[in-house]
Amino acid sequence: LDKRVDVVVIGAGAAGMMAAIRAGQRGRSVAVLDHAKAPGEKIRISGGGRCNFTNVNAGPKNYLSSNPHFAKSALARFTPADFIAMVERHRIGWHEKTLGQLFCDDSAKDIIRMLLEEMRAAGAKLHMQTDIRAVEKTLDGFRVETSEGAIACQSLIVATGGKSIPKMGATGFAYRLAEQFGLALLETRPALVPLTLEPGLLEELAPLSGMAVDALVRHGKTEFREALLFTHRGLSGPAILQISSYWREGDAITLSLQPELDFLDLLKTARRDNGRQAVQTVLGQYLPKRLAQYWTERHGLEKPLADLSDKVLAGITDALRNWQIKPAGSEGYRTAEVTLGGVDTQALDSKTMQVKTVPGLYFIGEAVDVTGWLGGYNFQWAWASGHAAGLAA
Ligand code: FAD
Repeated sequence: LDKRVDVVVIGAGAAGMMAAIRAGQRGRSVAVLDHAKAPGEKIRISGGGRCNFTNVNAGPKNYLSSNPHFAKSALARFTPADFIAMVERHRIGWHEKTLGQLFCDDSAKDIIRMLLEEMRAAGAKLHMQTDIRAVEKTLDGFRVETSEGAIACQSLIVATGGKSIPKMGATGFAYRLAEQFGLALLETRPALVPLTLEPGLLEELAPLSGMAVDALVRHGKTEFREALLFTHRGLSGPAILQISSYWREGDAITLSLQPELDFLDLLKTARRDNGRQAVQTVLGQYLPKRLAQYWTERHGLEKPLADLSDKVLAGITDALRNWQIKPAGSEGYRTAEVTLGGVDTQALDSKTMQVKTVPGLYFIGEAVDVTGWLGGYNFQWAWASGHAAGLAA
């Protein structure tokens, strides 16, 4: 470890590596410290191993924060197009999957390799398996005590991420450091996480386990239209992960199955064409069969269509459009993709991520109270906030 550098970055994840690249490109001497064995471990496992590295639609509206304006400046200064340009310079193949989500053709490891090459080219040095013991403010910067010795720096960038997936080295380090410097923290909670159900409801829905259906999932005014998955623990799939960031204990969520279908019209037409059919048979043409069966049994709809009034058909339709479920909880940090809350953005300059009251100290990435939707938005925030801090540190 060098005794002194211009910039120390703690955390060799998405945000930290990007910040190190930018600071190094400006001619600053940079040391990146991380306690893990390998850099970018979350990048490696992201997007099912293909890394959903950005979203072409990324904008402030795709982020949760107690200050929704905070992310604007950084996101505008480093856009998805800027990241794509870097990916193309490194000849990494990519494709758009759905809803603007961009993935690597081959492997998420290509993104890690790209960032490491850029760091090397920028002269930023990486020190893995380095435990941080203490950080203190000095007259002209900071002194960081590590398991490999002490290092002094002018600027300190904290990029240690959130609490999600503790098994992979996530710690509350950034929060503790923020507290040490007197910054406010916003309550953290697991987000982009599967939701669990009460044992009784779980048992009732057990026959649906493993089944996916297209759904519009609502919580208050927020809604997401994506796949919904019934699991042996509760509810998952992209639509549920999205809504989990908004859901709170005690709240219900509303499911609307196959939202583009006009079930009332379909049921009336089926009744006219063949009144002897069962509701289950008709619904089974548009919903997974097991779901159609569960649904008709639950609502006691065994009679043939001809015996059901318009009002009953409207009731079936309404129930399919407004299926209220009260989740019991979430699977927690063990499986959460991100952490909501964190370092209060009030404390930071939105252009540089610098702590207003502590010149030279920066917080970036997931540690900050900016949390993206599912779909490449979280990495885009990591790149953008890393870029902002790297240009300033
Ligand atoms: P991290 O990437 O978590 O990096 C933090 C670094 O700090 C780590 O290297 C860690 O070892 C180090 N560190 C932590 N504590 C300490 C300490 N005390 N001392 C020293 N070092 C420390 N987002 C997307 O946009 N697209 C996806 O496809 C996607 N897929 C995901 C899949 C999974 C399974 C998970 C868990 C998350 C996924 N995310 C995805 C979210 C994304 O990974 C994070 O938002 C992003 O990695 C945050 O970047 P970061 O640099 O702030 O933190």
